[in-house]
Amino acid sequence: MAKEFNTVTLIRKKRNRESLSQDEINYLVQSYTEDSIPDYQMSSFLMASYLNGLNDEEAANLTNAMLHSGIVADLSEVPGKKVDKHSTGGVGDKLSLILAPVVAACGVPVPMISGRGLGHTGGTLDKLESIPGFTVDVDLKRYKEILKKQNLVLVGQTEEIAPADKRLYALRDVTATVESIPLIAGSIMSKKLAEGIDALVLDVKVGSGAFMKKQEDALELAQTLVTIGEKFGKETIAYLTNMDQPLGYAVGNWLEVKESIECLRGEGPKDVIKLVHLLSGTMIYLGDKAESVSEGIEMSRKAIENGSAYQKFLDIVEEQDGDTKVIKNPESYPLAEYSLEVKAKKSGYISDMNTFNLGMAAVELGAGRRAKEDRADPSAGYTLHKKLGNKVAENETIATLFTNKKEKLSTTDEIFLNSISISENRLESGSLIYSRIDKMGIHEYEESELLKS
Ligand code: URA
Repeated sequence: MAKEFNTVTLIRKKRNRESLSQDEINYLVQSYTEDSIPDYQMSSFLMASYLNGLNDEEAANLTNAMLHSGIVADLSEVPGKKVDKHSTGGVGDKLSLILAPVVAACGVPVPMISGRGLGHTGGTLDKLESIPGFTVDVDLKRYKEILKKQNLVLVGQTEEIAPADKRLYALRDVTATVESIPLIAGSIMSKKLAEGIDALVLDVKVGSGAFMKKQEDALELAQTLVTIGEKFGKETIAYLTNMDQPLGYAVGNWLEVKESIECLRGEGPKDVIKLVHLLSGTMIYLGDKAESVSEGIEMSRKAIENGSAYQKFLDIVEEQDGDTKVIKNPESYPLAEYSLEVKAKKSGYISDMNTFNLGMAAVELGAGRRAKEDRADPSAGYTLHKKLGNKVAENETIATLFTNKKEKLSTTDEIFLNSISISENRLESGSLIYSRIDKMGIHEYEESELLKS
């Protein structure tokens, strides 16, 4: 049991910009996990931390307290280096669904614990749960069993593994306390370290649809994450990648699963495919199955070409009680009841997408949550018809919206039109991958020949 403190005193300390000790942070995290601190007090603490920050030591102590809120999985009975990937969150970010089976098919065990949608961003768990029957709630015993059998397991935070993150994550989502470097770092690293990995690849998003809008903040987050990972003895490599527009064309839970299936079958949008190969290649390299990231990328490409990654996806869906019929025949999935085409008001080139607003548009349609208890609608979301730099004619369709709440169509149509700028001239869009951050420092990313397609 953690040492006892007065919760109000600790909230006041953070409000007054004083730093908290490991014992004090342990008390807050443990008591909240055990339901002996109510949501309103934890919300105040989170807001004080958001506004006044946590120093490096407090951030590491928070990670440690959250990590030890449950069991740290011992995966030594699973042979090989276990590697996972985590994203700091974006819009249309379905990369985990594709790269996890790719990497597992290449022989690297992937124990993946993911989160639900957070704020304007989507979550891997909500996407997986859009597959009828798919279960993301498993206990530690079953977690290990699935990993041993499939070389892959896709689950959520549990009562055993990182339970503090499960609760804090849901509370942050509805108290506007997500976009904080130490809170994000604690959340990500506690659950990643608890899942029993040996190495970790991080996709740190930057841009209008990311929690970090500026490169300097995203770099600071990436460095914090890498430092914590290495401090806990895990090889950690992060990439800073572009989130100035949604990834791919699909946004929304099932719509993203469908686009992932296309990618696993060797089709799918270029931006998604490029990032999948980069991140998978790095995971395969860290898992000691390739001599270099480039060789890992080659293996990742082959796993898609020869169908082994798609087969692995079918296997894991079946293993976790999902319905493989909809994976084999995605067109059979029931569509949302209402749809609407968003039409361009003028002709020109798409020059800017406010991706935060486009993420909120998906939430508005029902794909995310407004309150902790809300359920994400599996079929809500949208497909883009245009991306940055694309030419568009007046009245041409920019996106198709899908929802089960008819009244949301007109409000979302308006959000879309206000969030997408059309200019006369075509503007260059930014790079997809900016830099790589590892224990040696920051390296500007040069797209290798392998990634140019
Ligand atoms: N992803 C997480 O797992 N946690 C955060 O706080 C943000 C992104």
